[in-house]
Amino acid sequence: IVKAINVRKSFGAHQVLRGVDFEVENGEVLCILGPSGGGKSTLLRCINHLEDLNDGVIWVDGEIIGYELKGSTLHELPPRLLRMQQREIGMVFQHFNLFPHMTALENVIEGPVTVRKEPKAQAEARGRELLTSVGLADHCGAYPVQLSGGQKQRVAIARSLAMKPKIMLFDEPTSALDPELVGEVLDVMRALAATGTTMIVVTHEIAFARDVADRVAIMVDGEIREMGPPAEVLANPKDARVRSFLSRVL
Ligand code: ATP
Ligand code: MG
Repeated sequence: IVKAINVRKSFGAHQVLRGVDFEVENGEVLCILGPSGGGKSTLLRCINHLEDLNDGVIWVDGEIIGYELKGSTLHELPPRLLRMQQREIGMVFQHFNLFPHMTALENVIEGPVTVRKEPKAQAEARGRELLTSVGLADHCGAYPVQLSGGQKQRVAIARSLAMKPKIMLFDEPTSALDPELVGEVLDVMRALAATGTTMIVVTHEIAFARDVADRVAIMVDGEIREMGPPAEVLANPKDARVRSFLSRVL
């Protein structure tokens, strides 16, 4: 469902993505690990075109993201069409970015009502279901300040899911949480994976990657150095930089 070919991205003279290639099948969970500064966040941001590319192509569900083909050259997609693509791609960040003046339920239904023009009652019914599925049935009316970090992150996940995305991108969703709150968020992600949701997860949670990922990719210096089933990649890395990274985190 996702295919990236030769994705390159520079900031000024600094080449952050140096020709990244990968595919993710429908329903697959890909975890991306790697040292800080390796380009993991930048890659996720390219998948939903929060960054433009210097070279290469990314497809999601058969559509080129951020560009359209005219003749044989790629042109920037008009903003309206880009936004339509972006709403099909869910993204959850380290910091949850909930609307502080809205309740959990209002946060979740905001997209469906204002962007998808769903009737409010229908959006609310589905919003309650989603909040129930992330263990927050009793917190629909709570404001973000009244919620713990783990609860806020679960609201953020429900809010992304409310848009019925084709894929879900997670950028270190548990890194900002107190240790005792990490598990509840990972449990929600694990359950989501079990429903067959296609997920790309940047994480430092090795145990989660080992248990939940279908495949693991290790990114170092803007390249995917190793990619495969977690048992293979984590136990038996071939690349020296990957070995040294894993020896520090395992
Ligand atoms: P971390 O594990 O610390 O989150 P990462 O693998 O997600 O790291 P990125 O955030 O993608 O790494 O950053 C890769 C490199 O690109 C870093 O050197 C960073 O400083 C640089 N970079 C990222 N975004 C920008 C930007 N908007 N402008 C300039 N440089 C940037
Ligand atoms: Mg990052």
